[in-house]
Amino acid sequence: MSEAKGSVAVIGAGIVGAASALSLAMDGWTVTVIEPNDPGSGCSMGNAGHIGVTSVIPWSTPQNVRQSFKMLRNPLHPLKMPVNGWLENVGWMMRFLAAARPKNVAHEIRILNELCQYGWHTLDPLVKDADARELINDRGVFYVYASEGSFRGGHEHNELRRKLGRTIVELSGDELREMEPNLGPVVAKGVHLPEVYSVSHPQELARRFVRATLRRGGDEIREAVADIRMAEGNKVAVSFSGGERVFDKVVLSAGIGSRRFFPKLGVTVPMTAEYGYHLQMTGFSELLGRSVAFVDKRVVFSPMAEGMRLTSGAVFANSKGNLRYDLPRRIFESAKHLLPALRDLKGREWHDARPSTPDSLPIIGLSPKMENVIVATGHGHTGLGQSGVAGRIVTMLANGAIGASDLAAISPVRPMSLDAAQDTSMRPLRIGL
Ligand SMILES: Cc1cc2nc3c(=O)[nH]c(=O)nc-3n(C[C@H](O)[C@H](O)[C@H](O)COP(=O)(O)OP(=O)(O)OC[C@H]3O[C@@H](n4cnc5c(N)ncnc54)[C@H](O)[C@@H]3O)c2cc1C
Repeated sequence: MSEAKGSVAVIGAGIVGAASALSLAMDGWTVTVIEPNDPGSGCSMGNAGHIGVTSVIPWSTPQNVRQSFKMLRNPLHPLKMPVNGWLENVGWMMRFLAAARPKNVAHEIRILNELCQYGWHTLDPLVKDADARELINDRGVFYVYASEGSFRGGHEHNELRRKLGRTIVELSGDELREMEPNLGPVVAKGVHLPEVYSVSHPQELARRFVRATLRRGGDEIREAVADIRMAEGNKVAVSFSGGERVFDKVVLSAGIGSRRFFPKLGVTVPMTAEYGYHLQMTGFSELLGRSVAFVDKRVVFSPMAEGMRLTSGAVFANSKGNLRYDLPRRIFESAKHLLPALRDLKGREWHDARPSTPDSLPIIGLSPKMENVIVATGHGHTGLGQSGVAGRIVTMLANGAIGASDLAAISPVRPMSLDAAQDTSMRPLRIGL
């Protein structure tokens, strides 16, 4: 470890905060993790576990916009927006539409490609330091389809991934069943993405990152941050119910909880709560050797350490109270024939909010109002896969090794208008990973 560089508080120990904390600690910073709950117990505990180096397609595409009304009307489609969700998300949706313009989509794909191609490369050193290699499954993942027609529907995206250098192996239903004998006859075709590693216990990974941070001399405060303000000597004061502490730098990585600090920090990129859900069964993990996404049903089956996990959902609700668990149940029921051995779907029901931006790009950069505060959130569907990259960028920002102009595309103040194609945020990232 290099010489101590200064003190930094990391607010929020989801996977993004936990990876940032460990990356900073490994770089010689003295890190305090501030989190009221068990690390990784927010959105980061419930995901499908993919370290998605192929997650290069944003949600805002002309195709998704065209089909969105059809999706919303389909009772078995995971995209849902309750009425009060519409009211809260009008501004967000306008920007989502702007982000779906073809020129903007091309830009978003280029930036997502830059970010996610280093997903594993940047996580690997953290996993080693945290002694967490046994949580990583390196057999890749399957995307499977119930018909030739639905396979062709996914062809364009798979071709794009291939063009960007990712390995995509097309397999027939029988070839897939040879590798995963418990897949049912419903599987007609699919692809193997061997470079997409997965995590068998996403919450445990965050916990281990925090533990490794503490081993490197960090400390933790089990409280929710109430306020962040500038303090004497260009330092930053962070307050919580138990008191106040002053740090050289602060990283705001509180997932959807980061939003309340945006006005004070001058963050203008909108972020919404996009709920996803899972059913965590006990046992049945042995049915699959790797995670399988059933594309027709938009349900991912992941063999986790605790048992088989089914994930899905994209619900734009303004609070957890707007979610009814009968919807996920019906969606999971409709997909369970992927694994005929799964007869009764019994398990722990869970849902939580992804911190989602209209252009599917994260928000990482210096606060325009408090120069020693670094914002790292907005990862939407890809926070686990991009957590190592986020940690690396946060560390480079803390060191002053990169600045706002290198990160225009993911800046907390990037413009998100219909004219985005004209502006400087179209520049590629200059992060030299
Ligand atoms: C069903 C589902 C499947 C998914 N599958 C994948 C996948 O396969 N691969 C992938 O890469 N991503 C996936 N995701 C997305 C991924 O889980 C998220 O992008 C990621 O968890 C976001 O992490 P985070 O650290 O930003 O937020 P969180 O995990 O929500 O962490 C934020 C933390 O901040 C804390 N906090 C909040 N407010 C405060 C405060 N005031 N003070 C201190 N602490 C605070 C919270 O307690 C919480 O622990 C999925 C998400 C869902 C819902």
